[in-house]
Amino acid sequence: MSNEYPYAERYGVLRALPEKGRPREEVLAELAEMARDEDAFWESGRCSGTMYCGDHDHYGFMTEAFGLYAHVNALQRDICPSQTRFEGEIIAMALDLFHAEAVSDAVPAGLVTSGGTASITHALLAYREAAAAGGLHRPNIIKPETAHPAFDKACHLFGIELRRAPVDPATTVVDLDWVASQIDADTIALVGSACNYGYGTIDPIEHLSELALSRGIGLHVDACLGGFILPFGEELGYPIAPFDFRLPGVTSISADTHKYGYAFKGSSTVLFRDKALRNAQYFFLTDWSGGKYCSPGMDGSRSGGLLAATWASLVSLGREGYRRYAAEIFETAYEMQAAVSSHSELRLLGRPSFLFSFTSDEFDIYHVNDFMRLRGWRFNGQQYPNALHMAVTRPQTKAGVTEAFAADLAEAVAYAKEKEASGVAPASGAIYGGVAGGMTAEADEFIKMVMAEMMDNQQAVPAE
Ligand SMILES: *Cc1c(COP(=O)(O)O)cnc(C)c1O
Repeated sequence: MSNEYPYAERYGVLRALPEKGRPREEVLAELAEMARDEDAFWESGRCSGTMYCGDHDHYGFMTEAFGLYAHVNALQRDICPSQTRFEGEIIAMALDLFHAEAVSDAVPAGLVTSGGTASITHALLAYREAAAAGGLHRPNIIKPETAHPAFDKACHLFGIELRRAPVDPATTVVDLDWVASQIDADTIALVGSACNYGYGTIDPIEHLSELALSRGIGLHVDACLGGFILPFGEELGYPIAPFDFRLPGVTSISADTHKYGYAFKGSSTVLFRDKALRNAQYFFLTDWSGGKYCSPGMDGSRSGGLLAATWASLVSLGREGYRRYAAEIFETAYEMQAAVSSHSELRLLGRPSFLFSFTSDEFDIYHVNDFMRLRGWRFNGQQYPNALHMAVTRPQTKAGVTEAFAADLAEAVAYAKEKEASGVAPASGAIYGGVAGGMTAEADEFIKMVMAEMMDNQQAVPAE
């Protein structure tokens, strides 16, 4: 067991606060050693998503910005007016990116949150509270099946009914007729993704916007993933239809600064067409003995470092920097897609852009994954249907990565055909692939065990 617990052999296992502190240099050296080993994995450019910037210079710059305010609590504005400047300007820059100037019927506003899930959660809370103020108490929303699980999580937390709309298997975008047929008097909002996490495809936001307007309900556009890259793709002339406040039915947008905004993890934005909707989710307790309490979102204390680093990322890159990075990423993504399409055995799902997903009608695609893993590639595994996805980020734009992808993929296809013919099941398919008939009770137990292992495994290591 001990060799399964990370670094147990190298550093031992800590089970209690050490009585005596260790020298700082020693602690830093240990941290640096692990970071160096782990960074080597994605620096190769073979890891999908997750390291959006991948540029240690940029990380170093943001670390400096973070360090200046890391100890500051953004909740206490009287002693840190800088945070009001950072937060206000992050919101303003995001609103501008999503064409808030096109809104003439309301005053647009936003919130900075701790991540995409938090942005979606705050938006749904706002819709629920606004509906409750109007006397609606059994609200529902309709999301495409492909929209992020954060919507399911928020509905679970807030007692909102979730209706899952099917997607067209060929285009992977939402079935509009189904959505229209399921709207009722308790529907508070529709959801569309720009783009979705699984396939990188964009729902027909313009049509969803018309539908939402005609039925007098909200439309949340989840641009957590695409928000800080698609607008620049549009400027570069890629075929990206508008998904923002230029469409009159779009009432809120989530966009993660901690993805293609290249900021540190722990930061995102959620923008509202109408300030009143945002304000509907405010929390305040004015008669508490501890003093008058209010917070703009669900978090209490927040690190000023994150606001400073996010602001620093945005203003140091500017539109020009984002556009340049987007150009490199789009170009790489289309080259990789061309490599996939050059194999008649492989099929791209829908019409993706910077993130693409592919499957095969001739063999289990997890055979391809098994082979690519041996070559150091890490894709995201999908199910129903089994597919692999690659979110192209800056590490893939380095010289030689697309060429290596094409060469390794060609060998992987030959390997997959051979394995399929011999009837062996792919090793990675058992974990990441779909289970015929859906999830079983054993699979549920397995997932619970995996989560516990992330937190409890130090207890399983035998003491020396
Ligand atoms: C990442 C992502 C989210 C959720 O974001 P977190 O930052 O992981 O909480 C939501 N929607 C889409 C499309 C995403 O890619």
